[in-house]
Amino acid sequence: MTRTFLGMPATAPRGVGHLREGEPFPAAARRALGDPQLRRNLGHATTTIRAKSGRVIGELPDWQQLRDAGSALKADTMARLPELLEQLESAVTAAGGTVHWAADATEANRIVTGLVRATGEQRVTKVKSMATQEIGLNEALAAAGIEPVETDLAELIVQLGADRPSHILVPAIHRNRAEIREIFLRAMPGVDPALSDEPAALAGAARAYLRETFLRTKVAVSGANFAVAETGTLAVVESEGNGRMCLTLPETLITVMGIEKVVPSWRDLEVFLQLLPRASTGERMNPYTSMWTGVTPGDGPQQVHLVLLDNGRSAVLADEVGRQALHCIRCSACLNVCPVYERTGGHAYGSVYPGPIGAVLSPQLTGVADNASLPYASSLCGACFDACPVKIDIPSILVHLRGRAPHPRAEAAAMAAAAYVMDRPRLYAAAQRAARLGRLTGRRGRGLPPPLSGWAASRDVPEPPPATFREWWARR
Ligand code: SF4
Repeated sequence: MTRTFLGMPATAPRGVGHLREGEPFPAAARRALGDPQLRRNLGHATTTIRAKSGRVIGELPDWQQLRDAGSALKADTMARLPELLEQLESAVTAAGGTVHWAADATEANRIVTGLVRATGEQRVTKVKSMATQEIGLNEALAAAGIEPVETDLAELIVQLGADRPSHILVPAIHRNRAEIREIFLRAMPGVDPALSDEPAALAGAARAYLRETFLRTKVAVSGANFAVAETGTLAVVESEGNGRMCLTLPETLITVMGIEKVVPSWRDLEVFLQLLPRASTGERMNPYTSMWTGVTPGDGPQQVHLVLLDNGRSAVLADEVGRQALHCIRCSACLNVCPVYERTGGHAYGSVYPGPIGAVLSPQLTGVADNASLPYASSLCGACFDACPVKIDIPSILVHLRGRAPHPRAEAAAMAAAAYVMDRPRLYAAAQRAARLGRLTGRRGRGLPPPLSGWAASRDVPEPPPATFREWWARR
């Protein structure tokens, strides 16, 4: 009997996409903390979303049961992922669509670029999609001479500003309206030079530009919030209606979806479509929920493609603790309650996935060594766990990943020294007696030499007891 060795699941490749931190979180966070305008914008936006979300969640007496149901559905999906993905492929194909499997970002970019080239078009409209940002699709399309046009208002602001998104749901959360006006005047084709910074005027300018773009573009690229294995139906939820234009007007529709977005059955959507809007935008129901199943002759896109993206997800699935991160429905509730995110914003996380979910997802997709500071970008207060509509235990994953992150040499040397001492009873007793000198340092570690004084700057150093257990025992 011969066996084929398939190897360990690979992490996302280097050099493509937006998953890796350019600089460690502490350095990037320090810079962000020095920007008062950014902190004002973030504080205002997260406080407003939190309050709105809290109000509509409070209306549902069965919110906790819904969370349990969402969590259980995701756990079941992950346990049967290969089978469900094959079922999804069969259903999409039977409905006239074409399914492509992409092992990583490079392969996904090649597939999408090839599909657009085959149409002969040189421009695509895009629905906001984290997966395409993750793989750096816009850069790959641009390198192939294809112009991607983001149609979500916040994404458009980010794209025209040659900027990076800083929030899952509100990618331009770091910009205020004066800054947005400047970006539009500078980079939006055909904009009125007398444009004001009134929200209605800014939205009107974007609408005029996008409407014209929708009507003359024949290819669109979308992400997907959910894909139903049983029927082959794909679903996109959004708030502006731009998604619906992208999904219905073009002749060719290409969807790039992380493999974890599959759900077993149509009924499962009932749970997620209640959880998602309340946890994310604080709405009772999503303003635009678009669903499509393959091709409908004479109605909507006649070429429908689905690209199933792994890019490190199988490696995440292989980790018994960390795999919960794949349950994420990208609602961004954990960002809005996180005291660290609220102060630093999303850019400090270096990856397209910011905030608490980014701190556990990015290091797993890339391998912890490539995002080693992110598991520490948290106070472990647990607010993210409480807010998560699918009950992802983010603090436990953070601690788990800290254990896997490469540790500084000094820390490894200190641990080796501690192990040596604890292995030798006399030495250990002497060390305990010496530790009593620690009482002299007092609370807050005053008197400790660097680098221990740094550790103690925000912690109370526990005082050693007046007598060790051995001394107490000997006295009796
Ligand atoms: S981890 Fe939970 S709270 Fe955070 S974005 Fe994902 S689903 Fe939402």
